[in-house]
Amino acid sequence: MTEHQDGSLAYLAYGLLDPFPDLVAAVSTRSGGMSAPPFDSLNLGLHVGDDAEAVWRNRRLFCAAVGVDADSLVVGQQAHGTGIAVVTKQHLRRGSRAWDDGLPGTDALITDRPSVPLLTLVADCCVCSLYDPVRRVVAVAHAGWRGLLGGILPRTVTAMSESFGCHPSDVRVGIGPCIGPCCYEVGHEVAAEFEKEFPGERSTFLRKEEPASMHLDLTAVAQRQLRQEGVLDEHTEVSGICTSCNTDSFYSYRAEAGVTGRFGGLIMLRA
Ligand SMILES: [Zn+2]
Repeated sequence: MTEHQDGSLAYLAYGLLDPFPDLVAAVSTRSGGMSAPPFDSLNLGLHVGDDAEAVWRNRRLFCAAVGVDADSLVVGQQAHGTGIAVVTKQHLRRGSRAWDDGLPGTDALITDRPSVPLLTLVADCCVCSLYDPVRRVVAVAHAGWRGLLGGILPRTVTAMSESFGCHPSDVRVGIGPCIGPCCYEVGHEVAAEFEKEFPGERSTFLRKEEPASMHLDLTAVAQRQLRQEGVLDEHTEVSGICTSCNTDSFYSYRAEAGVTGRFGGLIMLRA
């Protein structure tokens, strides 16, 4: 990913997605916003206890920097599940101004409508931005360990195929900053769930650290599932940035003990 600067506001873009002129795809950072600590400063989450007015200003600043209309945002009420919404005319602006108004139980958003920016919020979970340049369809998904185990990513690709005829081999995927295997210690129950889901592949996803802790690699799981679904490796870009190691640039739920803001992955088809 490459960093872009708009005044004091910084955001990241994918080298894989940047060349498409009909697409806006960006990941925000925590730099350049209005929120006070512990949400400093570009918190985009309305559900974390921050001042709503500051969050609205932050959303407008980020959207202006990447060239989209903040009032048109569509946001889901993420639930660490596998709820997927195909965004149509009736969903426009849902969640743009209030968490309660967001699409309920929705961890992935898909649309073929131009000028509808889809936003997913994270602080350690993966935000995945998907784009099919052939069918002109975009999606964004929130994927933590529960969502990955539930298959949120393959389900999103399947929903793109079923709703719009997308072929997985056409789909491009950017996987944004998330907590890395360096920092993401998980309990043995969680580790066991992944071993059950992917028998014989333990070493791909789990790292044993001393003395006896297990560390999970969310991005490796995401890549494995996307590959299985038919997404090509050369159509996948991984940020490789650990949120927990980089709390100066990103929010980390784990590193900041649960009291922090959210950065976001935004994707939109231009008209
Ligand atoms: Zn780390």
